[in-house]
Amino acid sequence: MDNYNFQLLLKETYDELSARGFETSRADWLLEDITRMSRTEIALNFQEKVPENILSEYLSYRERMYKGEPVQYIAGFAEFYGRKFKVNKDVLIPRPETEELVYQTLQKIHKKHLVLCDIGTGSGAIAISLKKERPDLSVIATDISPNAIAIAKENAKLLETEVEFLLGESLKPLIDRNIQVDILVSNPPYISYDEQNQMAETVLDYEPHLALFAHDDGLAIYKDILSNLDKVITQGGLVIFEIGYLQGDILKTYIQENYNIENLEIIKDINQNNRMIQFNWINQ
Ligand code: SAM
Ligand code: GLN
Repeated sequence: MDNYNFQLLLKETYDELSARGFETSRADWLLEDITRMSRTEIALNFQEKVPENILSEYLSYRERMYKGEPVQYIAGFAEFYGRKFKVNKDVLIPRPETEELVYQTLQKIHKKHLVLCDIGTGSGAIAISLKKERPDLSVIATDISPNAIAIAKENAKLLETEVEFLLGESLKPLIDRNIQVDILVSNPPYISYDEQNQMAETVLDYEPHLALFAHDDGLAIYKDILSNLDKVITQGGLVIFEIGYLQGDILKTYIQENYNIENLEIIKDINQNNRMIQFNWINQ
């Protein structure tokens, strides 16, 4: 096998990633993961020869990276809210914007021992993070995908968290069991099918479409949840959705025209895009 030192290996990988239009930081991320070394440790060892086992693993993984596969799927985990979550092709890689949804939700929880449900939990990132941060909450999480529920359960176990996972579409698992919740959080699929051609190939080719796309200009799942909310949410209960950056005003108007709610707020993410909508539900 070729004789590489750490610096040469990274330099060669940066050049190839740049040529293919990917961020070069992926090269570091993968090397840090394989070596279990920090960026600084790697830099201090730049001139050292890369051990054979590490080199062969890195070279095979970087071929996948060159094709566009997200590093989180290659490594098998993603970082979210300071913790590691197992991910694979059956679940969306949790996004930094969604960490803001977790943060916003935590700011809104003023009482103890509330019941919270995360609809469309995927890897379990939102539900598990909230339970970790607020162990007094009773947390339920649902998903329409059995494979996602399996990964979310694994994550709850790995992170030693107690979350009740229910398989099913939208609010049906709650309605079927007569469950009432005080807080409903969701990052449902919200991308319109028309937007497919503007999306990065690394997302489109690798992430589950069931987690990304929704009909009705991306609004279908919000509308479906809203139409049944009265059956599952307590009086004054908090609803907080992650939204597409163009959906804020449309969704606000739709909710205000059709439902009895108060305190509706659109919240921006760190990039100043409309990213969340929250309101309190008044019994209809
Ligand atoms: N909550 C995770 C996160 O924020 O990283 C995953 C969000 S992903 C955008 C949406 C999730 O909703 C996927 O896991 C998908 O399987 C699930 N899903 C799609 N349609 C659904 C539906 N009608 N009811 C419940 N879950 C659904
Ligand atoms: N924010 C995700 C993306 O840009 C989409 C998540 C979603 O549809 N809920 O790919």
